[in-house]
Parts: sequence; C-alpha cells; structure tokens
Amino acid sequence: MNHEAKKRFGQNFLVDQAIIADIVRAIRPEANDNMVEIGPGLGALTRPLLQHLHLLHVVEIDRDIIARLKTDYPQEKIVIHEGDALQFDFAALDPPLRIVGNLPYNISSPLLFHFAQYAARITDMHFMLQNEVVERMVAEPSTPAYGRLSVMLQYRFYMEKLLDVPPQSFRPAPKVDSAIVRMIPLPKAEIEVGNEMLFARIVAEAFGQRRKTLRNTLKARLVDADFDRLGIDAQLRAENLGVAEFTRIANFLNERVGI
Ligand code: SAM
Repeated sequence: MNHEAKKRFGQNFLVDQAIIADIVRAIRPEANDNMVEIGPGLGALTRPLLQHLHLLHVVEIDRDIIARLKTDYPQEKIVIHEGDALQFDFAALDPPLRIVGNLPYNISSPLLFHFAQYAARITDMHFMLQNEVVERMVAEPSTPAYGRLSVMLQYRFYMEKLLDVPPQSFRPAPKVDSAIVRMIPLPKAEIEVGNEMLFARIVAEAFGQRRKTLRNTLKARLVDADFDRLGIDAQLRAENLGVAEFTRIANFLNERVGI
C-alpha cells in the first residue's frame, strides 16, 4: 500500500538506511526505556527502535498513517496516541521519558517549546530538524545564528548537534539540509532563572529589535544605573548577551518587583 506524502504534515520520510542506523546508534535505545516517538510516519525509525525496546509510544496526527500503525506492528509493543503532538500531554506518561522523532519542520519551534515544558520529566531528546534550526539552537552569542531560540533552549538544555543529513536521505527530498540534535535537560539546580515567564518576556523584548541596543529595547524596564549594577554594557545588543546575562537581568527585575 503506497502512501502519498502530505506536505501539510511536513512528511519527508527517511529512506537512507545508513543514516537511520547512525540515528538509532546515537539514541542508544535500551529495552526498558520509556520512549516516545513523534511522527512515526512510515516507520523508518519506529521499526529499528522496536527491535531494541519492549514498548514504544508514538504520537501521530495523520489518520492514514495511524491506520497503518494499527496493522503493521505488533500491537503489544506499540502504544498509538492519535492526534497533534503540540497538544499532547507528556505528563500523562510515566517519567523518565526519552523523546525522539524526525519532526515536521513546519512546526518545529512550537514543538520544541512544548517539549521544554516537560523538561523535568525527560531524560533526553533526539530530533531530526532543519539544519538551520539546529544551528540556531546550539549557537554561541555574537554569532549570526544566535537568537531567542538559542537562549530559550540553552537555559534549560545541554544541546549537541550530532549529524548532518542531506536532502537525498528523504522521500520526498526536502529543500533544506537537516541535522540530528541531542537535547539533555539541565538538572534543576543548574537552572538559575527564578521567574521563567519574566525571563521569556525579557528575551523576547531584547531580540524583538535585534539591531537595537539593550538601552533601547529594555528601556521600559532598566535605566543606566541598573545596567551598571548588573555589570552589563547598555550599548550591547541582545545577540551579544549569553544566557547568564539574560538570567541576571531577569532575576534582578524579579527581585525588584514590589519594591
Ligand atoms: N518518522 C518518519 C520518518 O523518519 O520517515 C516520518 C517523519 S515526517 C518528517 C513527520 C511525521 O510527523 C509524519 O509522520 C507526520 O504525519 C507527523 N506529524 C506531522 N505533524 C504532526 C503533529 N502535529 N503531531 C503529530 N505528528 C505529526
């Protein structure tokens, strides 16, 4: 039975067996892992993962693919969650979770932010993403790829690009290069952000006008004396600040509330 790839679901199926083997090797599945695969599709990763695991949870939105999942795999080894991964409540599964997937690129950033909410329940995540997104995730300050996504993920996760994957490894071939990234949640004790909502707002405001100085983008919150106390040069731009500096700003403002 043939399946016609659906663009609206970001369907680019992995067909390169060497890459698939590399990905599974990088994931290192162990029999008793609580693993969840996002978007199993035609099973490029699902099948080899099932060779190692007692049980695999999968989250899939496409009804045609769900119908296949119900017939093509040993049902005692696979738990099928039908629906949108963006709405999926990962707290409903027993921790510690391992999440993997060749993600639909059209919703990759919202998906990453959705998973991040469950960081405390997650051991690690391995994803195929557009290479440009992976570069932004792991970027260092003062480089072109560094931005909101880098800061918002780096304060919570240790991240590492593992593998480049060319378009011809997929059917149909995407127009972009891809890469595999590993994300490991940082231990709670290492997360220094006191108020995550405030932190997110400050990062968004600072990067909202990327070319402007912090004095400008954060003028509603910080005066020059505040920058002096923080030891941060107000002439810098958001792209020059590391996670530690954003954390310092957010914690400073959080502590000032009510004064
Ligand atoms: N894992 C397969 C592979 O590597 O060949 C398929 C990967 S394909 C890039 C993305 C998969 O995610 C498709 O199976 C697609 O139907 C599914 N998908 C797309 N949007 C989704 C969503 N919002 N929630 C769950 N699955 C989704």
